[in-house]
Amino acid sequence: MKFMDEYRDEKLAQKLIAEIKRIVTRPWVLMEVCGGQTHSIVKYGIDRLLPKEIELVHGPGCPVCVTSLEMIDKAHAIARRPDVIFCSFGDMLRVPGSDADLLVLKSRGADVRVVYSPIDCLKIARANPDKKVVFFAIGFETTAPANAMSVWQAHKQGINNFSVLVSHVLVPPAISAILQSPGNRVQGFLGPGHVCTVVGYHEYEPLAKQFNVPIVVTGFEPLDLLEGTLMAVRQLEEGRAEVENQYPRVVQREGNRAAQELVNSVFEVSDRKWRGIGSIPQSGLTLRAEFSEYDAERIFDVQSINTQESGACISGLVLRGAKKPHDCPAFGKTCTPEHPLGATMVSAEGACAAYYAYGRHLHHPKPAEQDKASAS
Ligand code: SF4
Repeated sequence: MKFMDEYRDEKLAQKLIAEIKRIVTRPWVLMEVCGGQTHSIVKYGIDRLLPKEIELVHGPGCPVCVTSLEMIDKAHAIARRPDVIFCSFGDMLRVPGSDADLLVLKSRGADVRVVYSPIDCLKIARANPDKKVVFFAIGFETTAPANAMSVWQAHKQGINNFSVLVSHVLVPPAISAILQSPGNRVQGFLGPGHVCTVVGYHEYEPLAKQFNVPIVVTGFEPLDLLEGTLMAVRQLEEGRAEVENQYPRVVQREGNRAAQELVNSVFEVSDRKWRGIGSIPQSGLTLRAEFSEYDAERIFDVQSINTQESGACISGLVLRGAKKPHDCPAFGKTCTPEHPLGATMVSAEGACAAYYAYGRHLHHPKPAEQDKASAS
């Protein structure tokens, strides 16, 4: 398939792997930020093709996984109301809250609907004037423009039975928090290709300088990931710490200005709680005061819900790159995609779900076996 196969070419992949092997002289730990990158890495076994010196750890870039339990409980409190039509992207439906998920609430009679765009909610709101239509606006910088557009359009069209439950998160403060966390092992990043399509990568330059880490904005196909790894390893070996762009076919330094202006006109930066990680200052987006009439948290008075997370799930450590899914005693045993205990097993982009989907609960190679696979 054109534009796909060319980024999955085996011969080119072998060349990139050979070059990484040629230049690497010591161990390095790299983190891929996006859940989509994690899935490609596990699906194609890229981590197992790399020389043993390179360890890939998985970052917090799965939007469903990092939505706080508290926010999910707020969503459930709103969705339970008989006067509400609660709309969400499909991947939030099975994320466990304190006592249920949205699919369970739907089976109990709640009007929970899957939409493919927040703009669809405006149509639902116009068709149901006696109901309050709420959209669960989660995600990174990538989904913020469409969510901002839904609020802006509702405002423009005078739709007053629509609101958004906002739980947006931002990548740069999360990278900063990971690098400052006790025991951090991450020495370089494969940066988030889709996020940078919207916001560009100039915001990452001060991070690279402050923490002395290379950040390579990277795509999602196998050759993208191998080339991004090569670029990051080359920087580490040469003692450089810069922001480089492996993904220029999609990402430009300044990003999409029109999208950024729209987001900044509707949202402002705020503190945000991340599931498994805790509160990170200035790491989220919230509605500006002039759009507070679209703020579902305020309308339904759920601000006081304050849920503590269970200590049984180690997804917080997985999301910070401190542990791998198979380090969790529950992985593949009491925690599976059918019966998930934590968000990183529920979401298709979660690291635990990726490890499970590609059979790593069945066979995890011992270090000696991995060395053999890398050498072959
Ligand atoms: S395997 Fe399940 S319980 Fe363990 S970290 Fe992953 S989501 Fe949490």
